[in-house]
Amino acid sequence: MGTSRLSGIGASSHVCGELVEARDATLQHPAKPPSQYWIAGLRRTHVAREWDALGSNAKEMPATNLHVHFGGSIPAETVARFTPYTGAFEEALERISRKQLYVPDAKKGLAPYLQHYTPTSRAVPLPDPKYAREVARDIAYNYAKDNVVVAELRINPFRDFFSIHRVPPNELSSYSEAYTRAIAAGLNEGSEAARAQGLSPTHFGVIFDGNRFTPGEKDPKESLRKAAIIVDRMYEEAIRQVKIDGNPMKVCAVGICGLEEGHPATAFKSSIDKIHAHNKEMIESGQPDKVLGISIHAGEVGTSEEASKAVLDAIMLASSPHTPVGRIGHGVLASQTKVKEGVEAMGVRLSDVHFEICPTSNFQIIKELDENAPHPGLAFENKSINSDNDALSGPVGKEARVAGASPSQAAQMVLDGISWSFRLSQLGIKDEVLEKTNQKFRDLGIDL
Ligand SMILES: [Zn+2]
Repeated sequence: MGTSRLSGIGASSHVCGELVEARDATLQHPAKPPSQYWIAGLRRTHVAREWDALGSNAKEMPATNLHVHFGGSIPAETVARFTPYTGAFEEALERISRKQLYVPDAKKGLAPYLQHYTPTSRAVPLPDPKYAREVARDIAYNYAKDNVVVAELRINPFRDFFSIHRVPPNELSSYSEAYTRAIAAGLNEGSEAARAQGLSPTHFGVIFDGNRFTPGEKDPKESLRKAAIIVDRMYEEAIRQVKIDGNPMKVCAVGICGLEEGHPATAFKSSIDKIHAHNKEMIESGQPDKVLGISIHAGEVGTSEEASKAVLDAIMLASSPHTPVGRIGHGVLASQTKVKEGVEAMGVRLSDVHFEICPTSNFQIIKELDENAPHPGLAFENKSINSDNDALSGPVGKEARVAGASPSQAAQMVLDGISWSFRLSQLGIKDEVLEKTNQKFRDLGIDL
């Protein structure tokens, strides 16, 4: 919340070793957070006032981030470290962060959003494990500072290798493992650095998020066909990696992301069924720590009817007796009434379906959303509040204000997020984390 991605440059130097120390000489002036961070939140002045009544306590609010793309969350200080520049820090920041990383309020829509996502995710050569490790380290350190209790990072370890490095298919598995191991190592290092400063480290999980379209492929059918092949291989890899002793890579779920139009999640059913079969085997052999969750992006585009259908399809795909009932990424354009009727017809309670709402991202992408009204996701029964892409939206802690949530609503969403975390479920520490976080809210004087 109070700590921005940009304010930690000096603080992160001890996390990041020599490379940074050399650079730090030129990074002496901590920058103010870009104004876009706060604009959406401050529009709702009544909410802002309620938050401000918490005073400095608002900075201490625990948060969760269950929907956050690794490639879209490269901290600005990490970018600065790997981007050669000359001149004053402010100028560099202007070029690197404001122009490149943040979506201007004036521009809306998925296309401009993705135009910003691409340079963000390419700002450092992420598919190289060396850089992935650095990014993960900075994220882990920042998240601990921002009081993030649990975060599940979405990575796409196949597409980048496949499309950029032309890794031969028979080597995808080993490349993918090196990448995931590097991320986990970075997360552990950043957490250690945070712990050394007396901060509570974040519990991290990693989600293998499959892209439902093939960039550059113009024929929609071909785009879907090729995506399905890659997603299938990626899910097999998630299953292989989660079974590695002790799950050192923190693999906790699989997902489907990317453009929804023309790319229905139902096209990936056979791959999703492999996850259900794996989960059945894990439950029956007494290994709940190796169960994989499923989270599908749905209901972020289209008419209310299309969005409701996409959400219902996603819930149907993700439901099985051995899989934690799925989480829906966004879902904001779906009709709650239609979704409720639909899930009940499937024998699922709507309160058992968790919606990962991402207010800043939604306001940047979805033109139909009224920024002066509370975010429609607040009406969902079971939901958490997430950043989607930190580099494009700022830290997750301020998302509750952007949504128009009161502090107690925000607190409830954090508790829901903990309850629906795939990673905490694998670790078997959900109740313990819930209890601690509840206490923290009580100490801050927030009613639940
Ligand atoms: Zn997303």
